[in-house]
Amino acid sequence: MEQLRETIEKSRKIVIKIGSNVLSNEKGTVNKAVMHSIVEQVCGLINMGKQVMLVSSGAGICGVGAINKWSRRGDINYKQALCAIGQVELMMAYKEYFGDYGIHVAQMLLTRDDFDDPHRTLNIRNAMFTLIDENVVPVINENDSVSVDEIKIGDNDTLGALTATLWNADLMIVLSDIDGVFDRDPKSCGDARLIELVENAEELTAAIDIGEKSSFGTGGIATKIEAAARINKFGIPMILLNGSKENIIIDSLEGRAKGTLFLGTIGK
Ligand code: GLU
Repeated sequence: MEQLRETIEKSRKIVIKIGSNVLSNEKGTVNKAVMHSIVEQVCGLINMGKQVMLVSSGAGICGVGAINKWSRRGDINYKQALCAIGQVELMMAYKEYFGDYGIHVAQMLLTRDDFDDPHRTLNIRNAMFTLIDENVVPVINENDSVSVDEIKIGDNDTLGALTATLWNADLMIVLSDIDGVFDRDPKSCGDARLIELVENAEELTAAIDIGEKSSFGTGGIATKIEAAARINKFGIPMILLNGSKENIIIDSLEGRAKGTLFLGTIGK
């Protein structure tokens, strides 16, 4: 779709949110081939003169991959422990893959407090801008080991939206394991239709069948639509793409792939 291609092409500051479902394989451990391919595409965007911030999930899954236990433990302390272990694995992989292209990465672990308190917000903003100015790729995740209840953002779609707003990004790309938003749940309805353009994210939620979220991601489609509504208000578009498809970002930029573009109505 032309509008999808154009939106990526004209955007300079891009937040890319990578979901746990994209980074995991069917065994529930980290899919390094997919991660490598995403890094390759991000480096391609940087070489075109774009600036990229990553919001990456996957700490929990990488934790399971590293320690090979506790995957079914529901208790919050074990979930936190898995994320604490897995975050290291996640960053080691990003460091290695970006390192192949001579690019440094920086870890930023944030909580809701960081966006609610103006002093903390200013501090993270300064750190983000400095990293980007110095051509380092920030890799942002929720600080899962300290984030419980009231200070938890909860899902990385929202964290991505908060980041995009704070940075005043031109675009947020959300990589998930589906091709975009459908009018019905594509996992159960064979004739579900891909919605390629959304002008009003808030109205969309009422108009479609949201379906059930899968086992790994925290958010599901509802939080993606909410994230789009949140950033569209500031004139920032969002694109939902299937990150499991090889080369999806570059293919979309070159007009060869489809997804859902949440354009909003501001700035039209
Ligand atoms: N912060 C969690 C993780 O890295 C994921 C949150 C989400 O998927 O939205 O595992």
